[in-house]
Amino acid sequence: MIIDTDKCCTACGSERLVFGYTGNSSNVFVPSNIFIVYGFRTRSFVCLDCGHVGQFISKEKLEKLRSRIGEREELEE
Ligand SMILES: [Zn+2]
Repeated sequence: MIIDTDKCCTACGSERLVFGYTGNSSNVFVPSNIFIVYGFRTRSFVCLDCGHVGQFISKEKLEKLRSRIGEREELEE
């Protein structure tokens, strides 16, 4: 289990989260209007207090997405 200490449940605020991945059909985020071959694989968590399931992408992939969006915005200016 990977502990990501800056995350908490988006439904109840609990920090008692278990991290993992959802099934193959829904674990890739593909941004609109950006050409990208594989998308960004999402990570998931389940809150041990309320059962809420959340998804996010890793900080490394978030940086990639930010740079892709930044590149596009620079081209549009
Ligand atoms: Zn919760």
